[in-house]
Amino acid sequence: MSNSNRSIQLAGLGAILAASVMLYLQRQRNRASQSKSNPSPKSSDDIGNDNELSYYQNLGISTASLPPHILRNIAKELRRKSKAEFLSMKSPMYDNVFMLDPDRNLMCTISLKKAKWYIRKGIAEWTSPIIAGDKLDDTCKYIRLLFQPNGGKGTNCTSDKSDSERLYLQTPKQNICVSCGSNGHHMRHYIVPYSYRSLFPDEYKSHMSHDIVILCPDCHLNIDTATKRRMNQLEGELRDELNKSSTDGYDYWCSPVIEDTYLYHVRSCAIALVKWRENMPFEKVASHEREVREFLAGRQQNGIIDEDAPLTKAQLQSVCGVNYRIKNDEYIPGSELVVQSLNCDGDKIEAFIKEWRRHFINVVRPGFMPRGWSVDNPVICGRS
Ligand SMILES: [Zn+2]
Repeated sequence: MSNSNRSIQLAGLGAILAASVMLYLQRQRNRASQSKSNPSPKSSDDIGNDNELSYYQNLGISTASLPPHILRNIAKELRRKSKAEFLSMKSPMYDNVFMLDPDRNLMCTISLKKAKWYIRKGIAEWTSPIIAGDKLDDTCKYIRLLFQPNGGKGTNCTSDKSDSERLYLQTPKQNICVSCGSNGHHMRHYIVPYSYRSLFPDEYKSHMSHDIVILCPDCHLNIDTATKRRMNQLEGELRDELNKSSTDGYDYWCSPVIEDTYLYHVRSCAIALVKWRENMPFEKVASHEREVREFLAGRQQNGIIDEDAPLTKAQLQSVCGVNYRIKNDEYIPGSELVVQSLNCDGDKIEAFIKEWRRHFINVVRPGFMPRGWSVDNPVICGRS
């Protein structure tokens, strides 16, 4: 092949690569602007076909022509999508069972599990879909309480609530991604990261479905990255602040793991024996084998290992796999530091939760939040 022909071929390939990158970037921009300006629910089929691989296949560009970074993205996306089904919820998050008070006033929607609990306890009954004289949707399930809830006769538990909170409690919620509206695989998303929420006092943890929403795996990935970034920032700032005021010399930036130098050394000896034994001087091989034998003898119950028998492949492999990074018991996880800094102070916890709600709205800009959901809704059940 002549040099000029090769140059023409290379130029052609370069042009295809440049065009594919331009098209890819343009498509990303179009997707971003479309999802913000015209949020419309996607079907599960849309989600399944919406990947980089099918995009390039539709353009007639073979994967062999794609640059490595796009191929890596495609492989990453395929791996993530294959996991999505396993990570997603196996049943709908919202059952939307309507709960009525004894006078048949609508109180709220609850899960089927909770409705069955009321029935099992004998404090509620399944009932017909008639609320205060109005015939309602008979495709839904209804239970009627057999006792008067908080507030006595003529009131119901939502009477003291704001309009948005009442709307949130009483409106059936759709089992779709709150960001893009897709009805494919879904994941539970904790608006206040679970590692913080799980450390809150009990009253902030129970019955707070308000701050758990549905996201599809793609939207979950987007907010997850932003959430981790914010958590790292919060925790980093706190560690700096605590180190400045620390009087006992404790380093709040200490590592969660400590490297055991002896284990690291023995492991290095075993790796060297496996990989480079043939090229190592005899004395070095003998010294490394001695180190590995001593280590293995220490792990034996009787503390003895045959000095004359050659080290087996399995013995060397087991030492190569030794974990030399051990847990640092002094390390305090960032989530604990952050929640401790709130001092169980109700006002601080409320401000903290509302900040996370704002963060979620600002990052995701969801088009399908449940009706009545609001940053300003109470952060604790039963408090306005
Ligand atoms: Zn989504």
